Amino acid sequence: MILFAVYAAAVWYLACRWRRRWPGFAIPVIAASLAAALAGPLGSVGERTGLVPFRVLLHAEAALVGGIGLFIASLPRARITGGLCFHCGYDLKGLAAAAHLCPECGTQFPPARAPHASTPPAPARSRRA
Ligand SMILES: [Zn+2]
Repeated sequence: MILFAVYAAAVWYLACRWRRRWPGFAIPVIAASLAAALAGPLGSVGERTGLVPFRVLLHAEAALVGGIGLFIASLPRARITGGLCFHCGYDLKGLAAAAHLCPECGTQFPPARAPHASTPPAPARSRRA
């Protein structure tokens, strides 16, 4: 049973590691196919004892690993924080505040989440006048 959780965690970690890239989508698909393929030879385990047949568990594992893995792989790679375009990584610091799109790739940002909306604080003035 713990093997199911470890298998799912490993697949989801790899899908997260390569999300928005082709390995991130390929790994959950391959892992789900592998779990579903194992339901054939291992399927009869548990039927004689009256427990839940292994076949049902492996199909459920395949659906969970594949479905959640593909969802994780489709998540954005990086957030806009840090002044970088989340799509291409272009440094957006110093751009005009009216421009809400990346000059490199053309990705649009909502005005509230635009990276250049948070300007650095003005330098502190000395109290001596
Ligand atoms: Zn960009």
